[in-house]
Amino acid sequence: MQYRRFGKTNLNLSIFSLGTMRCLASPSLFNDTLTTGISLGINHLETAKGYGKSEEFLGHFLQQQTLVSREELYITTKLNPTPDAELMAQWIDESLKRLKLDYIDCVAIHGINTWEHLEWITGANGCFLPLQRGLEEGKIGHLGFSTHGSLDVILAAIETDLFEFINLHYYYFFQRNEPAIALAAQKDMGIFIISPGDKGGLLYTPPALLQDLCAPFSPLELTYRFLLSDGRISTLSTGMANPREFEPILSLFEKNDKLTPEESQKFNQLEEHLNTVLNTDKCSQCYQCLPCPESINIPEILRLRNLAVAYEMKNYGQYRYGMLENAGHWFPGKKGHRCTDCGDCLPRCPENLDIPQLLKDAHQRLNGSERRRLWE
Ligand code: SF4
Ligand code: SF4
Repeated sequence: MQYRRFGKTNLNLSIFSLGTMRCLASPSLFNDTLTTGISLGINHLETAKGYGKSEEFLGHFLQQQTLVSREELYITTKLNPTPDAELMAQWIDESLKRLKLDYIDCVAIHGINTWEHLEWITGANGCFLPLQRGLEEGKIGHLGFSTHGSLDVILAAIETDLFEFINLHYYYFFQRNEPAIALAAQKDMGIFIISPGDKGGLLYTPPALLQDLCAPFSPLELTYRFLLSDGRISTLSTGMANPREFEPILSLFEKNDKLTPEESQKFNQLEEHLNTVLNTDKCSQCYQCLPCPESINIPEILRLRNLAVAYEMKNYGQYRYGMLENAGHWFPGKKGHRCTDCGDCLPRCPENLDIPQLLKDAHQRLNGSERRRLWE
């Protein structure tokens, strides 16, 4: 396993972190999955107040595990933003109790997704105060935040300079948040990427066409390499459901270097393929079409359409599209069939796309079953 400095926290984290939200079927499965991860060199375990029994199981595991000392493991938990400072203080103590710890290495605010969340943190009597007190009292080692928010909210949250690390979405197939990566790196924040294998494209079960396009690499391997060849990024979360799920990525644990010429060539080929197949229908993800009076999430819907058409990533598209109108601020915006053909967005699109038509097409391709977040 390779390790990287987690920005200004100065923690030395394994390049793969283990999220503990998918191995909760039983305490023994949980313990086996964590034991395997730690034996493979993972030293950063991630949980959240909102992940069901995850904190509780992790507390039991930490008490009984003898693989490494407490000081060699780094625990991150996440607590939702709230306008109630007292409640946040209570949550910190409850998490410590569930985790059976006297300090938590890293606490992240779970989902600064909206301007209102940011206001709850930075406002007078906001929920940052008990977190800061936790730092001063030694209950918390470092503070950060996770986000599924828009780029402008993320940039503003980074600019508060209240946080030492960030946990966000950024993948080969979703590069919208690159300016947030750049700003966080400039501020020497630790950069922790949310589950690239899942949120980054459902790449544990890739479509045959994408596999062919990526060969001799796997789509999962390439997406991890895209991230780990970027020295600004500290660690990637993997949410293994059982010990067997480590197998496809074992060979990546030592790969910490720049892209090889073969890997770069593959990314160029993927890009060329996308451009050729989509041709004049390609959404370039500039976001200039927003806002839509019907609150349609045009760029995200057309990103999913890009991927479904070019790489046959229909399952991924349906998974993400199904969350629109079902996951609140975690995945905001309306679906494509809400388009009223008002034409507002059309003059703003530099690609001159027929947005209403493409939204209808995307809705037909992607409107499968409705999805909620794992913990809702
Ligand atoms: S044409 Fe459709 S997508 Fe464009 S702004 Fe109007 S309602 Fe929104
Ligand atoms: S303005 Fe056009 S190219 Fe840009 S994100 Fe919107 S639809 Fe895509």
